[in-house]
Amino acid sequence: MKHALLCLLLSAAAFAQAPQKGIEVSDLNRSVDPCTDFFEYSNGTWRANNPMPASMVRWSRRWQAGETSKEQLKTILDDVSTRKDWPKGSVEQLISDHYGSCMDEARANKLGATPIQPLLAEVDAAKNTADIQRIMRHFHELAINVPFGLTGSSDNHNPTQVIADIYASGLGLPDRDYYSKPEPRFKEAREKYLVHVANMFKLAGASEADAKAAADTVLDMETKLADASLDNVALRDPKATDHKTSFADLQKQTPHIDWVGYFQSGKLSRADLNLQEPKFLKEVDRQLQEVSLANWKTYLKWHLLRSAVGSLSDPFVEESFNFNSKYLGGAKEMKPRWKRCVESTDALLGEALGRKYTEKYFPPEAKARMQDMVKNLLAALGDTIKGLEWMQPDTKKKALEKLATFNPKIGYPDKWKDYSKVKIGRDSFWNNVVAGRGFNVQDDRATIGKPVDRGRWGMTPPTSNAYYNPLLNEIVFPAGILQPPAFSMQNVDAVNYGAIGVVIGHEISHGFDDQGAQYDAQGRLNNWWTESDLKQFQEKGSCVVKQFDSYFIEPGIHHNGKLVLGESIGDLAGAKIAYLAFKKSLEGKPPAPTIDGFTPDQQFFIAWGQFRGDAIRPETQRLMVQSDPHPIGKYRVIGPLSNLPQFKEAFSCKVGSEMVRPPQDRCEVW
Ligand SMILES: [Zn+2]
Repeated sequence: MKHALLCLLLSAAAFAQAPQKGIEVSDLNRSVDPCTDFFEYSNGTWRANNPMPASMVRWSRRWQAGETSKEQLKTILDDVSTRKDWPKGSVEQLISDHYGSCMDEARANKLGATPIQPLLAEVDAAKNTADIQRIMRHFHELAINVPFGLTGSSDNHNPTQVIADIYASGLGLPDRDYYSKPEPRFKEAREKYLVHVANMFKLAGASEADAKAAADTVLDMETKLADASLDNVALRDPKATDHKTSFADLQKQTPHIDWVGYFQSGKLSRADLNLQEPKFLKEVDRQLQEVSLANWKTYLKWHLLRSAVGSLSDPFVEESFNFNSKYLGGAKEMKPRWKRCVESTDALLGEALGRKYTEKYFPPEAKARMQDMVKNLLAALGDTIKGLEWMQPDTKKKALEKLATFNPKIGYPDKWKDYSKVKIGRDSFWNNVVAGRGFNVQDDRATIGKPVDRGRWGMTPPTSNAYYNPLLNEIVFPAGILQPPAFSMQNVDAVNYGAIGVVIGHEISHGFDDQGAQYDAQGRLNNWWTESDLKQFQEKGSCVVKQFDSYFIEPGIHHNGKLVLGESIGDLAGAKIAYLAFKKSLEGKPPAPTIDGFTPDQQFFIAWGQFRGDAIRPETQRLMVQSDPHPIGKYRVIGPLSNLPQFKEAFSCKVGSEMVRPPQDRCEVW
């Protein structure tokens, strides 16, 4: 009997069908020529048939998958919550109690702003700037990082070591330009912001007049902080935020900030650190000296309210939604409470929840198939570098050295974070938030002054996203993105390479975009380019800048090519090397099948259009074009593909069609 069972298993494996699933044929809009508008062609019918849910601001199969994974997380949390006797500190106790305390809406509504009363009282009791700074330190321990923040980061010049990194923050509007740009939409945003800040103060008990005055104070202080900070484009240059500074020099540059107190209370090493924006910190120093005690109290209370809003009663939550999600983002409706509670559990206890998630939704076969793709992608970029005509052998050698040190992380960390000491109970949601944030801040600060731990992850496993870290030269793909439509064990290779393959290529190419190319094989911010090669590389980048500058989202508003340069190089090079890797994967195998009349090459490109293309609210589109280094989905499809000769070939597009950039405008970086 035992023997027979074994045979059955063996034969099932021997006759296992190769993956069959091709592109989503029903999503195509075949009334449009793929050579005219590939975005509309590849997913237009899906968008027409699937209107955006009221609570969403972008929508596609991929965003839908992100929401589905929240439902999966909810199922996990609901299951775990049926038992109340989990051992204290166990993963199950922590996530179920946190989720349960968050779901208690009646209690939140009964409490109003009382959960943060002790902190508000602490601010009220401040007698001088020393007290203000003590409160700031306390806030930082709760991840309320205003007006600056401090985190552990690999040293730009010695990336095996973690140092303290001080960065600018403390603004309530999306970025510094919102405070200064004269266009009517920014002026309007400032007016709405004033009303929003005042409304929050009123909810917390301030009179109409006091609330209005508080809003003016907040906008005034933040405007001056914004004026002293770098804009989004300047921030993209890693050299602009690279200022290694000794502790003594930090104190000398900003004499009114009590750094001794800060480092002592945070138990931080006083070794050399990085100061991202010296000019910004000098403005903080000036304000500590010149801004009144009363105004500082107002500023701190505002950021406390803003940061705690999700833990307060419905009127606070609604006020925040109305400004941030509805006015700025265009959402029509708030997400249901359970979704916000799933998100909170992921944000605070991500590797505890992620552990349960990956057990259930991330099979080991998926990891193996991903590893294989990553290997092929790295090899394809290696071939590409070797074949570049414009690059000198010296620079090529360095580029290949860097390529050889790439570290891929797939699915989830090898070693999970230990949350067992975090005090999470069923009764107070805000206390849980404080405990969770406190743990994460300490967990981060504990890395400072030590050798870098390469096992740490910057995203939680359920996250539907991926990243590249130039200092560790690592590409990271959480299990949350390794789901359809990005990736499926059932997909044919053409479709997996066209979707997650391009994402892998994108992340690898970040190592060689305008930022990543400034870091060497060891992760140091260190130029490895010959002067003439660097000049040519930058010219190739200028082509991409020009291309995206020409993409208008509405009259008068177009993409900022310099802002989206890195992401667009990532997509352009990523699509190319994923295509080459797909071809490489077929070596020595039977040809990939034509499915539903589509050749493997056509399937590859359609998969990218179906993964990346999405519907978007006009408000979110405007916000992204202003503040986000990623182009909108439509141009992440059209932008890279219209540069690729392989795309032109696949759909037999004619020179002169919209999806084929004329030879003099065609961009190719790698
Ligand atoms: Zn990217």
